[in-house]
Amino acid sequence: MVADKQTGAAVRRWVYRFGGGTADGAASMKELLGGKGANLAEMASLGLPVPPGFTITTEVCTHFYSNERKLPVDLEDQAMAALSELGLSVGADFGDPRNPLLVSVRSGAPASMPGMMDTILNLGLNDSTVEGLAAITGNKRFAYDSYRRFIQMYSDVVLGVDHGVFEEILDHQKSLHGYSQDTDLRSEDWHEVIVAYKSAVEAETGKPFPQDTRAQLWGAIEAVFGSWMNARAITYRKLNDIPQHWGTAVNVQAMVFGNRGETSATGVAFTRDPSTGEHALYGEFLINAQGEDVVAGIRTPQNITERARIAAGDNKSSLEAAMPKVFGQFVKICDKLEKRYRDMQDIEFTIQDGQLWMLQTRNGKRTTKAALKIAVDLADEGIISKDEAVLRIDPSQLDQLLHPTIDPHAAKEVVAVGLPASPGAATGEIVFSADAAEQLEKQGRAVLLVRVETSPEDIHGMFAAKGILTTRGGMTSHAAVVARGMGRPCVSGAGSLRIDYATGVMIAGGQTFKQGDIITIDGSTGQVIKGAVAMRQPELSGDFGKLMGWADAARRMRVRANAETPRDAKQAREFGAEGIGLCRTEHMFFEADRILAVREMILAENEAGRRAALSKLLPMQRQDFVELFEIMAGFPVTIRLLDPPLHEFLPHENKEIEDVAAALGVDAAKVRRRLVELHEFNPMLGFRGCRLGIAYPEITEMQARAIFEAAIKAAATTGKPVIPEIMVPLVGFARELDTLKAVIDSTAKTVEGETGTKLVYQVGTMIELPRAALRASEIAGTAEFFSFGTNDLTQTTLGLSRDDAAPILASYLGKGVIQTDPFVSLDTEGVGELVAIASERGRKARPGLKLGICGEHGGDPRSIDFCELTGLDYVSCSPFRVPVARLSAARASLAAKLKKA
Ligand code: ADP
Ligand code: MG
Ligand code: MG
Repeated sequence: MVADKQTGAAVRRWVYRFGGGTADGAASMKELLGGKGANLAEMASLGLPVPPGFTITTEVCTHFYSNERKLPVDLEDQAMAALSELGLSVGADFGDPRNPLLVSVRSGAPASMPGMMDTILNLGLNDSTVEGLAAITGNKRFAYDSYRRFIQMYSDVVLGVDHGVFEEILDHQKSLHGYSQDTDLRSEDWHEVIVAYKSAVEAETGKPFPQDTRAQLWGAIEAVFGSWMNARAITYRKLNDIPQHWGTAVNVQAMVFGNRGETSATGVAFTRDPSTGEHALYGEFLINAQGEDVVAGIRTPQNITERARIAAGDNKSSLEAAMPKVFGQFVKICDKLEKRYRDMQDIEFTIQDGQLWMLQTRNGKRTTKAALKIAVDLADEGIISKDEAVLRIDPSQLDQLLHPTIDPHAAKEVVAVGLPASPGAATGEIVFSADAAEQLEKQGRAVLLVRVETSPEDIHGMFAAKGILTTRGGMTSHAAVVARGMGRPCVSGAGSLRIDYATGVMIAGGQTFKQGDIITIDGSTGQVIKGAVAMRQPELSGDFGKLMGWADAARRMRVRANAETPRDAKQAREFGAEGIGLCRTEHMFFEADRILAVREMILAENEAGRRAALSKLLPMQRQDFVELFEIMAGFPVTIRLLDPPLHEFLPHENKEIEDVAAALGVDAAKVRRRLVELHEFNPMLGFRGCRLGIAYPEITEMQARAIFEAAIKAAATTGKPVIPEIMVPLVGFARELDTLKAVIDSTAKTVEGETGTKLVYQVGTMIELPRAALRASEIAGTAEFFSFGTNDLTQTTLGLSRDDAAPILASYLGKGVIQTDPFVSLDTEGVGELVAIASERGRKARPGLKLGICGEHGGDPRSIDFCELTGLDYVSCSPFRVPVARLSAARASLAAKLKKA
């Protein structure tokens, strides 16, 4: 709060200054000052060379949107006071025709949204101040270049003039004189361009280009606040879960100029390689350029380090060679910033007449591969702890590492090579527009978005595409940066490709490709390949293994896998699963050589018929379990008794019906009659789960026998005790479980008698009906463990069939009735409450009752957080989700520890 001059009353503070070695703000004030403003303040306080300026807070943005786009009345006084102070500190005056202060007006939200909102440079120029700038710098070309840039940006952002208008004028001027580059234009050329620009603005808007510098400033500030709600910013926030209500800050900052000649430059850099994570400074710059020229791909930028220049085989000088002193200073600053922020930094800088200025720093976006390497390296370097390294990796990103890469031995026809902008390989149909990418993706097609370059308008298409290919732009081009953030493979700057949007054709390596043709890109090498190529699964050792090891040390919950085939079980072990949490025995019955026996069992008219069929299944089941127990030697295996919605097994075709009839020794008509008897209106809520075993105990008996005999056999071959966990599905009444447990126990006695071996096993239940959750204390009287079957529990709690849910959920998500799909991420409030009730009541009745989850939610990070808080002992998920679950469980443990501390 500051005091009002007239009344002495406390007024709200809207403006925070930075520069000259001090600042009102700090890095910790991101919410109020936005990321850019907070970090500019931090850099200024650290004594780094930052052009001075001030930040208008995000609270002004909130005020703006809750007051019909009006700014707070007392903002103007505060801002103008800060502006004249700024002028004093740099020895210039805003709007002064002899010595004008120029500023940039920059957006900056609490979370970084690169390129999504607007920034205006060189503000404060008009027909008279531009002459003052030319005179005081003795550099007309520079002054006019700055003015035309300003007219272009201001007209685009504030006045809504399409930027194409200006590009046409500039192209015309260039071709008139035979220039190829913007830097070829002389001061008189720029003067002519300015005249043409201004008349274009007047023609488009009906008003002359604004000459009043104060009006320019407020126009720009309002436009930046306005850009918070532009379509691409809204899309970006949706894709990145950034809340709408945060708002952006606005930074007004004294200009420094990278376009003042050959000793001036502008650039961007990462303190480590954002693609591989390698600990090496990495970046690009352009001499005699300003602002976004580097990322816009107008000219091809130069490398910052010699090392990168040599690696790229580039003959244009690096910053290291061209300006060694500035380079040395820059390296020191990068190091300081990395240590201060304890993370890899993404830095924007400008060099004016040989002097370095820092314009931005933030934690850099990176590929998952780089994120892993950087987290592991930072921990090894002692900059962060191992636990912090674990917290640095977003589990949902791990998916990317499990992406395939191109098999190095595969035959392939490379038709072009660009820059390896974002790793991983992708195959798909060529599309040339973001809209086409989105449309085809909706039809389930795999597409690659192929563009000359991409812009923020294309992000929906980049999101929909499997990969992105551009012909222009460097490693820090829009396409490259966004693709890395999204985890899409990307090849950028494939300069030998020719794209003709009008005819929908791409020419590469002398061949013509049309929309719909299949190509493959390799974002790790930059190769563009004709057709599809053999892919390879990724390595799980190295940094990945190391970080997962740290995660395993940090987590409390165990991670198991849902698996029934030996292949899945082996895969699960490779991914680090500590046992099987759900083996669905019905999945073992679908195979061709078994289905007939299964059908016989179902369609048999009496117990004798069923027993005959079951005796055929017994040896097969036993062998299945032997293999699983052997693969999981030393780890627990939970086997669920048969739980098919029966209709999935019934024969439909005449041939199938006749086969079953023959096997049963009856005629087909009889089988058909039995089929009619078995017909159910809603099989999901019908004769399944433990209801089957209650009606036909001989099925349970067969399965229990197969499990016990397999356990004895596997214990003998592996030398490790096997303790099977037998799980009874779809229990609602304690008596159901009691009934089947009696069958299991008596089967155990029989097998013990036959073999003379003492069996150790557990019997538990799935909790997948609300009644079971509520009556958990009775059920826990018998059950030695609970496993939450949250797929069915979600269906039965919501009364919503998973198979019919898609259109309903889509509409609910669209209308905001629900925020997340409850089949993907646990409905923690509703279904979660039942899980919590069952856990509490179950453990009260049986202290130490083992609790786990085995629905799809067992591999979902947010649901895993919930499981940690509820005190479950383990989560179980599909094999490919096991690494995600291990990391999520670790992060949940660490978060819970932090909360307690
Ligand atoms: P974005 O958020 O899109 O990165 P910025 O506000 O960072 O936008 O501005 C983009 C670029 O404009 C910066 O990287 C820098 O090159 C240039 N720029 C911004 N402010 C200044 C300034 N005061 N002096 C010189 N260049 C500036
Ligand atoms: Mg920036
Ligand atoms: Mg179920």
